[in-house]
Amino acid sequence: MEKRTIAEPFKIKVVEPIKMTSRAQREEAIKKAGYNTFLLNSKDVYIDLLTDSGTTAMSDNQWAGMMLGDEAYAGSVNFYNLEAAVRELYGFKYVVPTHQGRGAENILSKITIKPGDWVPGNMYFTTTRAHQEMNGASFADVIIDEAHDSQADHPFKGNIDLNKFQSLIDRVGAENIPYICVAVTVNLAGGQPVSMQNLREVSALAHKHNIKVMFDATRCVENAYFIREREEGYQEKSIAAIVKEMFSYGDGATMSGKKDCLVNIGGFLALNDEKLYQKATELVVVFEGMPSYGGLAGRDMEAMARGMYESVDFHYIQHRIGQVRYLGEKLEKAGVPIVKPIGGHAVFLDARQFLPHIPQDQFPAQMLAAQLYLESGVRSMERGIISAGRAKDGNHHYPKLELVRLTIPRRVYTYAHMDVVAESVIELYQKRDSIKGLEMVYEPPVLRFFTARFEPLA
Ligand SMILES: *Cc1c(COP(=O)(O)O)cnc(C)c1O
Repeated sequence: MEKRTIAEPFKIKVVEPIKMTSRAQREEAIKKAGYNTFLLNSKDVYIDLLTDSGTTAMSDNQWAGMMLGDEAYAGSVNFYNLEAAVRELYGFKYVVPTHQGRGAENILSKITIKPGDWVPGNMYFTTTRAHQEMNGASFADVIIDEAHDSQADHPFKGNIDLNKFQSLIDRVGAENIPYICVAVTVNLAGGQPVSMQNLREVSALAHKHNIKVMFDATRCVENAYFIREREEGYQEKSIAAIVKEMFSYGDGATMSGKKDCLVNIGGFLALNDEKLYQKATELVVVFEGMPSYGGLAGRDMEAMARGMYESVDFHYIQHRIGQVRYLGEKLEKAGVPIVKPIGGHAVFLDARQFLPHIPQDQFPAQMLAAQLYLESGVRSMERGIISAGRAKDGNHHYPKLELVRLTIPRRVYTYAHMDVVAESVIELYQKRDSIKGLEMVYEPPVLRFFTARFEPLA
């Protein structure tokens, strides 16, 4: 990183006031929310680091594009602009818009998976795995071991372990693996990138066995930045060129536009294979809408297309990654246990080390998120045992990583906000011994982290 401060590469044209709350108000709010930060009313939140999904501030150029929405039922101008952006920036031939990323995951799973199949991936993502499993597949984690160790320092902790992938092929047969899902970056590993070298090798191995490579493209621009920073031969390349090379190793992608496309809603499925694309268009009309809008207004597609171009601007992504790193380094200096290296979209607190006295089935990360809210009105989320859900046998999955995610929305908060967050976490760390565990009192059957409710243990 350069020595001089990297200030926001934008100036502020519109402001949104945020509410300060008292501890008494927050105590009432978190109790009402069943100690689940997802269930808090956002008006009771001071700095909202729940997610970077759909929380982006759009640019004046994107807002201007909203006025150019062509709300025709079919063949909207904005669809063609989106299609052109995907072709130019990502290099895929066909695009099916969807209301958000999971809409694309649903369609991809339905057109590729048969019951009994296996889908390998570099660590699971909640909605991605849910769609794979609902269509009869089993998920197999083939990420490198380092990804499961919060302290392992590896420049590309999101990489796929080719031996794990090969042994899955040997064990279940390539004909039962419709595709490998490659997430760039890996959200649940801490926003960790995948190297270009690894993408090349994964692609070669998969294609040798007629297995498709499908990207979870959600944070592809952040991944490209890390490649430029860390991988030999990429220091002089543009972010756009790196993104395009990454995708050249795949057959398609699901995209949540709510992340790296810099919009509040939207997503798409991108494909190279014409027959698969045809199948996707047959399903999108059932679940989303016409293949030329897929659950989005014309204006949403326009904002997404414009956001895609803005996202590959070097100064935008340099500031984004720099801001996340600024928060992470402040915490690290104070001795707070975080996932290392610091990833692309969030700083992850290691709740196992933060609260070693709370066993995993008393939900330390869930409680840490609740306590951080109580302390300062900062909202974060659990990414541990609650997010991991239950296995087929009914027992909890016990993930090695028990984390609290402080996710930084794009272009929304300033460095001063990061200072406040760091101060709150550090204060909480100083009194960590007094924090107790939780008991789950309501559990929904799938994706339980969204709506589960808890009570503090006495
Ligand atoms: C957000 C996200 C998704 C799902 O996208 P939605 O737009 O929320 O439906 C899929 N994969 C990853 C890695 C994500 O972060």
